[in-house]
Amino acid sequence: MRFFGDTLKAKFISRPNRFTVVCELESELVTAYLPNPGRLWELFFPGARLYLEKADSGGKLPYTVVAVEREDRPVILHTHKTNFVARHLIESGRVPGLVGAVIVKSEVTIGRSRFDFQLEKGGVNIYLEVKSCTLFGGGVAMFPDAVTARGKRHVEELASLAKTGAKCIVLFIVGSLEPDYFMPEYHTDLAFTRALLAVKSQIEVIALGVGWNPDLTLKEEVKTLKIPWTVVEQEAWDRGYYLLILKLTKAKSLEVGSLGVLEFKPGYYIYVGSAMNSLTKRLERHRRLRKKMHWHIDYLRHVCDFRAAIPIRTSIRIECELAEAVKRAADSEIPGFGSSDCACRSHLFYMPQDPLNSRSFHRMLQYFRMQKPIQRYL
Ligand SMILES: [Zn+2]
Repeated sequence: MRFFGDTLKAKFISRPNRFTVVCELESELVTAYLPNPGRLWELFFPGARLYLEKADSGGKLPYTVVAVEREDRPVILHTHKTNFVARHLIESGRVPGLVGAVIVKSEVTIGRSRFDFQLEKGGVNIYLEVKSCTLFGGGVAMFPDAVTARGKRHVEELASLAKTGAKCIVLFIVGSLEPDYFMPEYHTDLAFTRALLAVKSQIEVIALGVGWNPDLTLKEEVKTLKIPWTVVEQEAWDRGYYLLILKLTKAKSLEVGSLGVLEFKPGYYIYVGSAMNSLTKRLERHRRLRKKMHWHIDYLRHVCDFRAAIPIRTSIRIECELAEAVKRAADSEIPGFGSSDCACRSHLFYMPQDPLNSRSFHRMLQYFRMQKPIQRYL
């Protein structure tokens, strides 16, 4: 099944804002519209291959990004096409529980809410909301990859609609046949996850993997993913660990509390920390500059640019294992930094390049965020 026109291959250069990318097309720099609000960290590496469609004459930018290549396979990014895919899956009887259902209307408005589809099956009214998922790897898919207030509102609205007797479904379409499991992305969007947990007995949650061929046609096969709710219930709390990424532009000697004066090279610093309660607050604290110096990292934070604070929510103790993994991905460590309470040599690591542009860094992150929680429960 075909959902896209002819595409051109380009090389990813940068993403100046959420909906625009700069890429190299036949050795010229062009800008393209990106119809995807996700963070897409693990997909947009410098040089990544993009699939572009020529935009309609009405478009502001000359091209639209349709997909990005990852490990020789296209990952579809064009979220506006998700509902076409959903319609095809429903009409060809591939969505479990919706075989024989008829689409009554798309983009249906009820009160102040809007849902993707209204269907009917055996006299029962069904409302369906579709979400497209691009975050997957190592057998696990998660959604969303950036905070979605809209997604949270949608599942809450579906739950209140379900009270009127309608059947309500949220359908996650995962753009790969590789994963076996799907979970809400509680590390990044705890509010969405808690909202989904709160209503999961009132609405139906379906996660379906689909496959794309290199020519961007949809494969026939679909796969129903398992949703390990016990893992989500156990892990989706405001506690766990984090990686704080800081950027130092110029070399600096710095007095760091009890460690004395240390020399810092320009580049990126990755700090492994823990907050067994109020993890979100801790991350906000690291973002702020004005505060009392309390931890070693506060001294360094003061002279650096904030790059990212990445939470890894979990109920098990992984801090030193995480530090060990970051050490393997990094260039060097700063001895004694942030590790006064444990046996590690350090909890601060150095990389000359931005870790967010490193594939091995993202693989490590996906392991702790996605694979490890599932493995424990198998
Ligand atoms: Zn440690």
